[in-house]
Order: sequence, then C-alpha cells, then structure tokens
Amino acid sequence: MWNGRKKALTFSYDDGIAQDIRFTQLLNKYGMKGTFNLNSGLMNDSGAWTTDKGLHIRRLTPTEAVEVYKGHEIAVHCVTHPHIEGMPEDELRREIMDDKAALEKLFGCHISGMAYPYGEYNDLIMRVAGECGIKFSRTCWDMHGFEPQSDLLAFRATCHHRCEKLWELADEFLAYDGDEPIYFCLWGHSYEFDIHNNWELIERFCEKMSGHDDIFYGTNSEVLGI
Ligand SMILES: [Zn+2]
Repeated sequence: MWNGRKKALTFSYDDGIAQDIRFTQLLNKYGMKGTFNLNSGLMNDSGAWTTDKGLHIRRLTPTEAVEVYKGHEIAVHCVTHPHIEGMPEDELRREIMDDKAALEKLFGCHISGMAYPYGEYNDLIMRVAGECGIKFSRTCWDMHGFEPQSDLLAFRATCHHRCEKLWELADEFLAYDGDEPIYFCLWGHSYEFDIHNNWELIERFCEKMSGHDDIFYGTNSEVLGI
C-alpha cells in the first residue's frame, strides 16, 4: 500500500465549479491528487448560482471538466445535488446510479466513490449507495484525526480547509513517525477560496505538505485502497 509509505494525503472537493481550474493547477504544481465529486445534471448554466455577496459561481462544462480533472479522480455527488434525506428510495437510487453512469461515460472511467450532497446520509442512503456500487462516500463530519476508518460509506475527512485545527493537524501529521498507516483527507469547495478570499491558505497548505518522501500523494480511492 502507498508504495511502502506510511502516510498518505488526499483531497475531496465538491460540485465541479470553475474555481477547480485554479485549484487543480495548484494540486498539479505540488504533485498532489484529489477526488472531485460532481453533479452530472448541473454541468451547464442551470448549475450556476450567485452568492449573497454577489459572487457568480458557475459549473464546469463537460468539455472543460474532462480537461481540468485529468490525473484526478471523479466521484458521484448525485445528478442534481438534491436533499436526499427522506427522498423515496427509487428516486435516490436514480440520483446515484444515473450520476455514476453519466460520469463514467463522460470520463471513460470506473467510479466507486461518492460524497453525500449537503452531507446528508442515514442507513437507507448508505445501503442504496452500496447497492449502486459505491465503495466509499464522504460525509461532512470532520474526523480531526488520521486513523484508517472501517465504515467507508460514512467516510469522514480529516477536516475542512477552514477548520481552526488545520495547522495543528498538519503539524501533527508531518511529525508522525509511528508504524501504523495514517492518512490526511482535506475537503471543501474551491469556490470558498474566492468567497473567503483565502487562496493563500490552500497554497500554503500544499506547499507545507508537499515534497515529503514519507507521504504518498493520491486520490481518495488510491489512499483508501479501493
Ligand atoms: Zn455539494
């Protein structure tokens, strides 16, 4: 696993928005890889919105997305980014299956990952996701730790990039020299870097975490051994 390394770093970012162009350039620059959770039904003007501060956020088109996410992993985020808690089971199944099928066709790959829209999940949602061939699905609950998890359909990232413990966790991760394998997964939406005007935070994080011989840099699937 991880070419003999005991630590791994990965990213999980949602919604397939235009800011992923800059974000993937950053990851590529530092030799890092991420998993991007996309809504196949919103890769056009209908997926755009304007924030309360007037920032226009648009989704990448299918043509752009194929180019932008080269070298990274694509995962399901449901066709239309719906609230799935309480949704009828057949509708939920379609949201997952149809997104998976459309993304597999567009990117010419096999997809086994997902992130729950709005972080909503429960036993039924996890079961249906599993039946649709999903092997891991990210929640919005931060782990604030690095221990490998067994319940991957309720997968927790280490933290969101705005977590107040981000730098403390990064230092702890870098200093770790134990025998058990550990991983760091950072999650978020790259439009947040524009909203909060903090691209410098993610640049600093990538710079700090890059170039370490004892860290494997991979997609979620590679890191989770899927
Ligand atoms: Zn989302």
